[in-house]
This record gives sequence, structure tokens and C-alpha cells, in this order.
Amino acid sequence: MEFIDHPSEEVLERYLFGSLPESEIEQVEEHLLVCHSCIDAAEQLLAFVRSLRSSLGSSRKPKTRAAGRGAALER
Ligand SMILES: [Zn+2]
Repeated sequence: MEFIDHPSEEVLERYLFGSLPESEIEQVEEHLLVCHSCIDAAEQLLAFVRSLRSSLGSSRKPKTRAAGRGAALER
């Protein structure tokens, strides 16, 4: 199995925000399948992004499957 370089935090962030080009999304997802440390990093970023998003409101909606859980987080 071939490892690509770890995506940078910025790339992971853009991936979580849904602002990454599709070709790069594929690379990130393939990498996440094999790299647990990047999954950890992504999860930490995701938690950060969620708290950021709840303080900013939900004007930006990345197409993630977290949408269903969003309601529970709203205040
Ligand atoms: Zn990695």
C-alpha cells in the first residue's frame, strides 16, 4: 500500500469545510483510510470547525452528512 504525504492541516480544514477541489478530496479521503493520525487530526479539526460554525451560524453549509446532527447542536 502506498502512502501519499500527509495532507497539511490547512488541506484537512478545507476538506472539512468542503472547499477542496474534488481531485484533492479523493486524495485526502484515500489517505484517511490508511492513516489514523490524520483521522485524529481531522476529528480534532472537525470539533473545532463545529464550535466555530455554531458561533458563526450556519450560513456556510458544506455538504457533509453531519447536517442531521446539526439541529442537536444548535442553541
Ligand atoms: Zn496522514
